[in-house]
Amino acid sequence: MSVADKPTAETLGFQTEAKQLLQLMIHSLYSNREIFLRELVSNASDACDKLRFAALADSSLYENDGELKVRISVDEDARTIIIDDNGIGMSREEAVSHLGTIAKSGTAEFIRNLSGDEKKDSHLIGQFGVGFYSAFIVADKVEVLSRRAGQSAADGVHWVSSGESDFSVETIDKPERGTRIVLHLKEDAAEFANDWRLRSIVRKYSDHIAVPVQMRQYMPPAEEGKEQEIGEWENVNSATALWMRSKNEISDEEYQSFYQHVSHDYAEPLAWSHNKVEGKLEYTSLLYIPTEAPFDLYHRDAARGLKLYVQRTYIMDDAEQFLPLYLRFVKGVVDSNDLSLNVSREILQQDATVESMKSALTKRVLDMLEKLAEDKEKYAAFWKTFGNVLKEGMVEDVANRERIGKLLRFASSTSSKEQDQSLDDYIARMKEGQTQIYYIVSDHYDTAKNSPHLEIFRANDVEVLLMHDRLDEWMMGYFREYAGKAFADVARGDLDISHLMKDPQPEKKAEDESAADNALLERIKTLLSEQVESVRFSTRLVDSPACLVVGQADMGMQMRRMMEAAGQAVPDAKPIFELNEKHALVKRLTGTSDAARFEDLALVLLDEARLSAGLTLENPAGFVARVNRLLNA
Ligand code: ADP
Ligand code: MG
Repeated sequence: MSVADKPTAETLGFQTEAKQLLQLMIHSLYSNREIFLRELVSNASDACDKLRFAALADSSLYENDGELKVRISVDEDARTIIIDDNGIGMSREEAVSHLGTIAKSGTAEFIRNLSGDEKKDSHLIGQFGVGFYSAFIVADKVEVLSRRAGQSAADGVHWVSSGESDFSVETIDKPERGTRIVLHLKEDAAEFANDWRLRSIVRKYSDHIAVPVQMRQYMPPAEEGKEQEIGEWENVNSATALWMRSKNEISDEEYQSFYQHVSHDYAEPLAWSHNKVEGKLEYTSLLYIPTEAPFDLYHRDAARGLKLYVQRTYIMDDAEQFLPLYLRFVKGVVDSNDLSLNVSREILQQDATVESMKSALTKRVLDMLEKLAEDKEKYAAFWKTFGNVLKEGMVEDVANRERIGKLLRFASSTSSKEQDQSLDDYIARMKEGQTQIYYIVSDHYDTAKNSPHLEIFRANDVEVLLMHDRLDEWMMGYFREYAGKAFADVARGDLDISHLMKDPQPEKKAEDESAADNALLERIKTLLSEQVESVRFSTRLVDSPACLVVGQADMGMQMRRMMEAAGQAVPDAKPIFELNEKHALVKRLTGTSDAARFEDLALVLLDEARLSAGLTLENPAGFVARVNRLLNA
């Protein structure tokens, strides 16, 4: 629709989710109201970046005004703040959609699913960029006057809202390109209509913004009868891109506020790494590890990647070609001297320079994580939030497998429930003569910790890693050894830890004894041939009568359940049924000649083994009836 077809003025409702976010924000950010200025200056600076980028292809967009800047003015008496930029601007359609709806994919859906409990929901605000709506924390009326670069002066737009349910738009004349935001402050926000206050907020949050943020030089009040002098515009921020400055001149606060600018995250970063690379490749990177996970960490098409600059010129957001998928939680900036200013996403995908930068940046992130790991508490927070994503790297990034392996953390049979043991910790505690890293995979910590498979290990003080995250079995399928030590799944295949046992092995059995054993195993095998692959005496069990073991090359139980849940076909493989020959119930089996009782007892042992492996029973009522028969006998 062209502008001529539009009614000049119209009132429109905010998208429901936008309204919800607006309300949530006003309520939850009340104690930190000054951030509204950071957000509006950040938008103005983004708009200047976008214009500079668009002008690479069409320099007429500058309209003979190439000095991009942001200007803030304040009127104490009228209680207004005006923020002007000469960036890209917005057309009427853009103002309606960008300021009236939530564009970012997935966000609207997420908001739709909020609980409605204000207190609970307000914690979630950290997951969103606070953005433009933060203006309504301090203002009860916000006006936006804008005109898109390249459009005619008559195509300006005037957007007004009081931040409740609707806004109005009108087409206006706006000769100057760019956007002006007028905030009419609430009575209780009058403190912000103050020159010094605004300057200090700009310095605090926006010093690193590359574009100059200007205010009028302060002029003392005029004497009676004389006209008030108006000061010249002067820069309030240092107006150099933060990442171009040298490390030792940048304070932690500056790094933190820059993070909030690039990440649109309200929380503070957990760690950062700032590097200037010279030589064959020339680029500067400033990478951050967030504290909180975004809500869409696992959405396939969620935005990810770094903010890309080429020689200080902004090129694009979310350049995902510079880091592997498993490091998608990393935020930050990369500024290259080697790439062309015309670089596009398509070019990035196949550029050799980008490929080398990607592998160097990946190493940087791994360095940063190794360093973070020296601080146990911080690393624990990282692991809890992003550990499962990092595990994807064990499969995705073969070249760095050993380094990522060093960063993994697990719970273990000899420590607490926390996943805080590294493989190096484990290896340092290995018993004399131990060559393998023992682990068990299950769906729950408690199932793993109490599994019968651990009995022989516990009895001999051999540590076993307890893995119970969704991806663990999948990951371990690719992770065969670490630091020269092979991994061994204690619930799989043949197990021989006789070399680690405290007590010497029993003597070899007499012939007639073995014959009786074989007869028992045969009898059970015949009975259970539908359910199990084979039946044998166990080397794993101490207290439990029986357990199930997966064949060395077969799919494990966790993977099997995951595939079944996803509706995929699972290879048909039966487990091995292992019995503890020293257990009273197993001995009782040998002495049971009554066929019905033998069957009850054998089936109960099988179902018990299933239950302790965290599996469900195919016939739970049958199990209950059998147990009751045995109890009653
Ligand atoms: P974000 O900055 O994370 O995209 P915001 O809520 O801050 O989200 O802003 C929403 C959108 O409104 C921006 O993406 C941009 O398209 C538009 N916008 C806001 N302020 C300006 C401005 N000063 N100039 C041009 N466009 C703007
Ligand atoms: Mg913004």
